[in-house]
Amino acid sequence: MSELIDPALPKVELHLHLEGAASPAFIRGLAKEKGLDISGIFAEDGGYDYRDFWHFLEVYEAATSTLQSPEDFRRLVLAVLEDRAEDGVIYAETFVSPDFCGGGDLGAWREYLHAIEEAAEQAQNTMGITLKGVVTCIRHFGPEKARPIALCAAETKGDFITGFGIAGDEKMHHPKDFAWAFDCAREAGLRLTAHAGEWGGAQSVRDALDHLRPERIGHGVQAIDDLALVDRLAEDGIVLEVCPGSNVFLGVYPSFRDHPVDRLREREVKITLSTDDPPFFRTTLVQEYETLARTFGWTEADFRSINADALKAAFCDEATKRSLLDRLTR
Ligand SMILES: [Zn+2]
Repeated sequence: MSELIDPALPKVELHLHLEGAASPAFIRGLAKEKGLDISGIFAEDGGYDYRDFWHFLEVYEAATSTLQSPEDFRRLVLAVLEDRAEDGVIYAETFVSPDFCGGGDLGAWREYLHAIEEAAEQAQNTMGITLKGVVTCIRHFGPEKARPIALCAAETKGDFITGFGIAGDEKMHHPKDFAWAFDCAREAGLRLTAHAGEWGGAQSVRDALDHLRPERIGHGVQAIDDLALVDRLAEDGIVLEVCPGSNVFLGVYPSFRDHPVDRLREREVKITLSTDDPPFFRTTLVQEYETLARTFGWTEADFRSINADALKAAFCDEATKRSLLDRLTR
């Protein structure tokens, strides 16, 4: 089948978990070097293997356990950005968690971050891709663990760390439990995003908006079940980081046809497109665009407009945005 959308179309990707973007080959290589047996997390074809979302979180953490040093993260960033660049991504934001980089200790986090930033700079020079970091606390680790993570984020806000967010199991705890962490990040001048409305219903999106006051929502797709909320998202200009392939793969929606991304767009909600944890969901951004074009009849002009919106919603500085806009509109 010939392609509907040019794979080289310049793209902006805002919702990408750094460890979740690690290819199985990369993780297997690290495990082998360190003599760790994590063979149970791989399927026969070499890809990641799990039964459902909750098992996915376990497999994810097992894969992440191979990442043990700043040097491992330096290599991870380069490998991940190489894959993104192949997808035509020119700007990406990635969720990074001090929980996985030194256990929430500020000194250790600074060392990991230094390695991550160095790799991002190298990728900028050699691959022409810009990366920024959004520090995330992990919801199912609980609100107490989120506090030192927010402090790590606040202390290291800068050219690279531009945002703060929350990821993990939406069924655990309430957004209000994380208000302290979000207030701390907001006071430090970080931009905010929160995972909600992926597994939680529309109410979980309302709760995140009311208690955490983010400008973007990770997923947020279940808002579709509450049209008053959909209108609120559109009116307030809250941007959704939509990851259709992730939602379909994990069974939030049975197929792309059933996915609400097209209906959200029709109701003038600003949406962006991302892959979340691409090797875990056996997807790429090129594949997502192609499937959306086939399912909803979206054209290159639609994707260009979505990418322009994504760049507007990006957490980087205005000068970076201006230089990227040139490349997006070329
Ligand atoms: Zn996510």
